[in-house]
Amino acid sequence: MNQAWRQHAACRGVDPEVFYPVSDDEAETPKAICGACSVRHGCLDWALANKERDGVWGGATEKERRRMLRQRRKTA
Ligand code: SF4
Repeated sequence: MNQAWRQHAACRGVDPEVFYPVSDDEAETPKAICGACSVRHGCLDWALANKERDGVWGGATEKERRRMLRQRRKTA
């Protein structure tokens, strides 16, 4: 899958640990960065397609992505 979107990632240069929060409260910071990211949709699609298990991708936590994947399976 094309990963050209990474070039425009708002998280470039940000400490990667920020994107691996240990609580929902801690997830607010990475989600805010993702919220202002122009490649958010491509990032989320990549994480879902690759079943990325950990961290915040495309503004979604692992728990939220699991829910999205479950929802997709139900509607497929
Ligand atoms: S959506 Fe978030 S994790 Fe994905 S590239 Fe943008 S800032 Fe980084």
